[in-house]
Amino acid sequence: MTAKDYVKAIGAQLHEKDGNQTEFLQAVDEFLSTVTPFLEKHPEYEANNLLALLTEPERLLQFRVPWQDDEGQWQVNRGYRIQFNSALGPYKGGLRFHPSVNLSILKFLAFEQIFKNSLTGLPIGGGKGGSDFDPKGKSDGEIMRFCQSFMTELAKHIGPNLDVPAGDIGVGGREIGYLFGQYKRLRQYDAGILTGKPVDFWGSLGRTEATGYGAVYFVNHLLAYNKDSFDGKHVLVSGSGNVAIYAIEKLQQLGAKAISCSDSTGVIIDEAGIDLELLKEIKEVKRERLTAYKEARPEATYVEGSLWDQAVAADIAMPCATQNEINLAQAKELVKNGVKIVAEGANMPATLDAAEYFIAQGVHYCPGKAANAGGVAVSALEMSQNSQRLTWTKEEVDQRLDDIMKNIYETCRDTALEYGAENNYMLGANIAGFAKVANAMLQQGLV
Ligand code: NDP
Repeated sequence: MTAKDYVKAIGAQLHEKDGNQTEFLQAVDEFLSTVTPFLEKHPEYEANNLLALLTEPERLLQFRVPWQDDEGQWQVNRGYRIQFNSALGPYKGGLRFHPSVNLSILKFLAFEQIFKNSLTGLPIGGGKGGSDFDPKGKSDGEIMRFCQSFMTELAKHIGPNLDVPAGDIGVGGREIGYLFGQYKRLRQYDAGILTGKPVDFWGSLGRTEATGYGAVYFVNHLLAYNKDSFDGKHVLVSGSGNVAIYAIEKLQQLGAKAISCSDSTGVIIDEAGIDLELLKEIKEVKRERLTAYKEARPEATYVEGSLWDQAVAADIAMPCATQNEINLAQAKELVKNGVKIVAEGANMPATLDAAEYFIAQGVHYCPGKAANAGGVAVSALEMSQNSQRLTWTKEEVDQRLDDIMKNIYETCRDTALEYGAENNYMLGANIAGFAKVANAMLQQGLV
């Protein structure tokens, strides 16, 4: 069979088996759409049917999470952990608490995590987990009881050399703290069990900022290579959570103007530049909606709906909210409005046809698995610090983060060039991430 037919057959098999897992199939289709030239060069992978192994998780866990709300009523949510691939190290990837969470979404996230973690050059495998629990509007007590119940089951399946979860949508320092506390009660004090911990108990300095900063560093290296800089650039940022806030912070530090942010109900456009202190106060301290931003800054515009439906001129777009937030029509609008770089702080925020459109139009499209790898990279640095029982300074962590992002950018760029697809960072990220994992799997006897 030719490599092209092999890739097609694997895709068809998965569509047959997992036809209802749309997000997972989307992530696999994107990956498969780029790997044929690599398989042509390396027939040993097809000979060992490696793609079939790679697309099947090593282990899937699903469990019930009973918890009591403030009225004393029992509630039940679904908990999951996907342990997808351990060729390069313990499973590593965040926990997401959001009502949309299901097996398909977590499998797509865990699948992408394999290549992302490989690109960091650090010893971590790929995993992801979470629950369809909705933290929005819950009291601290309810969040705590939910986290305790979630960890009561999860604790049986994780460990510093087995699986090390972190945060994602709906899981920040508060949730990690409650999860950690419960693990400690059930087992023992083990700093290496979770990352994204508050710095008071062995979290890494710079972890909170890492994903947003890292995505901006990635673009900064791309700009520098093209003899350009952030200076004066207008940037559209979506989301107003952890990734968006620290992307905006680093953009401002590097001389760009971030002119938007959003949440699941609406969008702020602030042509004077986002007021970061105000945004942090609203989202990190008060946990309010973005309408509060408009109230405090009447000169800004607030509209309900998606940022990507607003026709706003900009140089760079950084989607930092969630998957599939940019479709093909919105991608076309962005290109029409002058966007030359799209860097994904979120995971898979562009649909596959939108991503392919960007690439075809010569837009520098920086896929999430490369551009947002800074978060997991600093999580791996947190693991190193926990093992050493040492803490590094914020400057040291930040310098390492910048070095890692530079390396990821260069790897994606050079791999794309090597395969005759200049500036196709999607192909570069997939092939470079895959090469290392595939090699490790073969050397370990395909286990
Ligand atoms: P947060 O929970 O801190 O923030 C998420 C933001 O996205 C909020 O503004 C939220 O709005 C918005 N959002 C979430 N779901 C939707 C939706 N369905 N429609 C519209 N807006 C939505 O999460 P993070 O900032 O941590 O994560 C954002 C993205 O970055 C995710 O794709 C995540 O997987 C990815 N990522 C995160 C990393 C990390 O270290 N945290 C690492 C790598 C990637 P609202 O509050 O209204 O729900």
